[in-house]
Amino acid sequence: MATTEHLAQLFRETHHELRPRSPVPELRVEFFGFANVNNTIRLRDGRLLVRISDLLEGAPEYVLRAIAHILLAKMYRKPVDRDHAMRYRRYVSTQHMSTKAHLVRQMRGRKRIISARGHAYDLESVFDDLNGQYFFGLLARPQMTWSSERARNRLGHYDPAHNAIVVSRVFDHPRVPRYVLEYIVYHEMLHLKHPVRLRGSRRCVHSAEFQAEEKLFSRLEDAKEFLKCL
Ligand SMILES: [Zn+2]
Repeated sequence: MATTEHLAQLFRETHHELRPRSPVPELRVEFFGFANVNNTIRLRDGRLLVRISDLLEGAPEYVLRAIAHILLAKMYRKPVDRDHAMRYRRYVSTQHMSTKAHLVRQMRGRKRIISARGHAYDLESVFDDLNGQYFFGLLARPQMTWSSERARNRLGHYDPAHNAIVVSRVFDHPRVPRYVLEYIVYHEMLHLKHPVRLRGSRRCVHSAEFQAEEKLFSRLEDAKEFLKCL
């Protein structure tokens, strides 16, 4: 298995190949637990910081050399050698690697059948922030998920049968302010806190306590205003 020192040496050699006349900067290489096969390089204060996906920890040397070449070439805006690019791509796309990546994702809990992580917002972090801000962190987080369809008629709902808060995908957009999404999630969190109960024969969904607590949301009026124009 490649050590980070060995990797650093590969990077120094590759650096010398690409820029024979310039000195090799100070280098730090580390394996990093990305969710996917991912590698990054940065030059900061004259130091090169390299992060290699830990999924590549057991990769053969020619693959690591290919990565070093690709990352350094890209950083210095030099053409990427085709053979290196191909070797790397081939290795990463092998069954072995994709199975490994898949297993690691499962272990890290990133893989979800229904996903809280949208393009613009992560519902779990919205829930956690609100939980801390308004509920002293006391609510247990249910399954958080974006709706599969872009429903406009239903902004969000709490599904007690599956213990899930479902939010319309319409709001997973950078033009939707976070406080609007927070308001929708906050409302559903109140449903979590105040279960629907029967009062006489009337099903009381938004009880007086519910409504009073909803008013505590800091940007209630702004959020309602935004939703009016949706
Ligand atoms: Zn409601």
